[in-house]
Amino acid sequence: MTGISDSFQRPINYLRISVTDRCNLRCVYCMPAEGVPLMAHADILSYEEIYIVVKAAAEMGINKVRLTGGEPLVRAGLSDLIRLLVGIEAIDDISLTTNGILLAQHAATLKEAGLHRVNVSLDSLKPERFNKITRCGALEDTLRGIEAAKTAGLTPVKINMVVMAGVNDDELTDFSAKTVSEGWHVRFIEQMPVNGDDSGFTKLFSVSEMRKRIESLGKLEPWKVDVGNGPAKYFRLPGAEGTIGFITPITEHFCYRCNRLRLTADGKLRPCLLSEEEIDLKEPLRSGASVMELKNLIEKAIASKPKGHHLAEGKKRNGRPFSQVGG
Ligand code: SAM
Ligand code: SF4
Repeated sequence: MTGISDSFQRPINYLRISVTDRCNLRCVYCMPAEGVPLMAHADILSYEEIYIVVKAAAEMGINKVRLTGGEPLVRAGLSDLIRLLVGIEAIDDISLTTNGILLAQHAATLKEAGLHRVNVSLDSLKPERFNKITRCGALEDTLRGIEAAKTAGLTPVKINMVVMAGVNDDELTDFSAKTVSEGWHVRFIEQMPVNGDDSGFTKLFSVSEMRKRIESLGKLEPWKVDVGNGPAKYFRLPGAEGTIGFITPITEHFCYRCNRLRLTADGKLRPCLLSEEEIDLKEPLRSGASVMELKNLIEKAIASKPKGHHLAEGKKRNGRPFSQVGG
C-alpha cells in the first residue's frame, strides 16, 4: 500500500470527499426531519478546488478517492469532477457512495467519465419502511439505481445497510438471501449514535447478533479481504456469488488500520470522522497557496490523526452531521 504514515504508523492512502452537504433524503439516523443548516454555496469548494487538493494529496501517496456527501448526485455536473480526477495519474480508484435515488439517470454518464464503482445505501427492502426510514424516498428508485449501476459496469456494486434494532433488523436474512439469489454484495453496518438521531436508537444491534441471525441461512465462510484494506470483514453463504461484509465501528473498531482522511464540502480536512478537529484548506486555496503549502497542511492533518474513537465507551457523536463531513 502507498501512503504517508501517521503518528501511529498507519499508511494514509484514501481520501473521502464530501462534494455537497445537500441531500434529497432525510434518513432518521443521519439528520432531523427539517434537515440541517446548510452551508452557503460560496463556501462549498468548486470542482477545480477539489482537483487541486486531490492532486497535492496524490503527490503524498493518496491513490484512492471516494465521493460522498450529503448526496453527491444532487450536485450538478459530478461527472466533470470525475473527469478531472481521472487525469491525476496516481489516483487508481475512484468510487462513489450514494443513496441511489438519482443513480439510474446518471450511471452511464458517471461510468463514461471514469468512475470505477459505487456503494449504495439501502436500509430496507420494504417500500413503506424504506419511505419511513428515509422520510421521503421511494424504494423503487434506489433499486433501479442499483440495476443501472450494474448494467453500466460500476462494479462491484456494494449495498450498505445500517442495522437498527427494532427498525430493520428483521430484514437481515432478506438482504443476506440476495447474496445468493442476485449475487449482491451486502455490508451490514453497526449504527453509530449521533446527536439528532431520530431512529429511536435505544440499543446497538451488534455484529455478533447479526451473524447469529444470518447463520440461520447457512454457515458464513470467511472470504478474502476487500481490495484496499477497507473496514469490512467479508464472508459468503454456501452457494452465494455475492458477499456479506460487516462494518463494526462500535464493537470492534478498526481505527488501528484506518487509512483515510476526509475533505468536507466546505474545504476542511478532517483527520477522523469522529473527532471535531479540522484543518482549513479553503482559505489557503482561495488566497493562492502553493502546492507545497497545501502539502504541508495535508501533512499536518495526517500527523494529527487520533489513535481511535470512544463510541464503544458509550460516548455519543456530537458536532457536525455526517451529511456535512461525508459519512
Ligand atoms: N447520501 C449518501 C448515502 O447515504 O449513501 C452518502 C452520504 S451518507 C452520510 C454515507 C453513509 O453514512 C451512508 O451509508 C449512511 O448509511 C451512513 N450513515 C449515516 N449516519 C449513520 C449512522 N448514524 N450510523 C452508521 N452509518 C451512518
Ligand atoms: Fe442523506 Fe445519506 Fe444522510 Fe440519508 S444517510 S440523509 S441519504 S446523507
